[in-house]
Amino acid sequence: MTIYREVNEMSRCGGCGKLLTVGGLEVERLGHTLVFCSPRCIEVFDTYKEPKYGAEAVWPESIVK
Ligand SMILES: [Zn+2]
Repeated sequence: MTIYREVNEMSRCGGCGKLLTVGGLEVERLGHTLVFCSPRCIEVFDTYKEPKYGAEAVWPESIVK
């Protein structure tokens, strides 16, 4: 089954900001469910973005509602 969504409803990877169509990897971080395009981007978030920016590392576009 293919799910089509409007661009403004699509999520962005929490690591690199790439627009995600379907799928993506969902992980719990900082009390939110965030979506990432690859394990590498989760690693970037955990080792770089979160230590550096804390809660501000979480982009609203990456939170799974
Ligand atoms: Zn990514």
